[in-house]
Amino acid sequence: MSDILDSLKRVFEEVTQEADWGQPAQYIPELAEVDPAQLAISVCTADGKTHSAGLSDKLFSIQSISKIFSLIAALGRAGDQLWTRVGCEPSGTSFDSIVLLESERGQPRNPFVNAGAIVTTDALLSGREPKMALAEILGLVRAMAEDDNIHINADVAKSEQRTGERNKALAHYLASYGNLLNPPDLTLGTYFHQCAIEMTTVQLARAGRTLARIDGAPKIVSAHHARRLNALMMTCGHYDGSGDFAFKVGLPGKSGVGGGLLVIVPGKASIAIWSPGLNAYGNSKAGTRVAAMLSQSMGWSIF
Ligand code: GLN
Repeated sequence: MSDILDSLKRVFEEVTQEADWGQPAQYIPELAEVDPAQLAISVCTADGKTHSAGLSDKLFSIQSISKIFSLIAALGRAGDQLWTRVGCEPSGTSFDSIVLLESERGQPRNPFVNAGAIVTTDALLSGREPKMALAEILGLVRAMAEDDNIHINADVAKSEQRTGERNKALAHYLASYGNLLNPPDLTLGTYFHQCAIEMTTVQLARAGRTLARIDGAPKIVSAHHARRLNALMMTCGHYDGSGDFAFKVGLPGKSGVGGGLLVIVPGKASIAIWSPGLNAYGNSKAGTRVAAMLSQSMGWSIF
């Protein structure tokens, strides 16, 4: 196994020479303006150290990576009851697809596609003020990262609230099957705000230590839940790109349309990557490449 610092440097240099970074998400105006030619990588290792390359202190919008945190919080609240409302199978469809919801009678395939994440947030909300549910998610993220300086960017949330017609359609469709317990607008408002949490790759990698179950990481998530979350990240974390990610990287991961990526190396490391240009699946283009190269050079694939 080569040294992490050497690998990090080599991978960073090789990937930053890449001419095509992909395009940032266009459907959220606030994200569309971000320069795609940016890269940050942070890796927390089992010896308690955090190693970084690039723009690792720059805040980015974690978007769908927040679905990990809302799922942990919702499981704390609803327990296994949550699995009666959302499945745990890969969908093979894009993150915002509605097609399976009709034939599967309003039960989303998994908690990481948007429909499933909206149901998860709805379970977490369970009749409370959105502020309470958001405080719970933020509290969890801060405790996992051991850093209280993590906040929601209200402009990004508003930007998505203005343009998120597809998510609004999903929420109302779910409600028509009785799979939303709160008014759709309330659940959606909570969901848009959780997606607008901003973090640096250092903060995100540190939060990931809990799921990697590295010695010394905050013991906030049970081993049982960590195992299940990692399984879901492996099979569903990249939507219809999940097979491709497992094939190339061989590790559980969760992407966000802001270009963030959290990758878990069980028992060994937690990796956070950010590069805002996306591939055809809506996952970070350079980020996926970094994850594959790091996993390969460190011998980290679980297979
Ligand atoms: N907020 C985004 C949405 O709902 C999150 C999607 C993503 O990151 N893949 O469309």
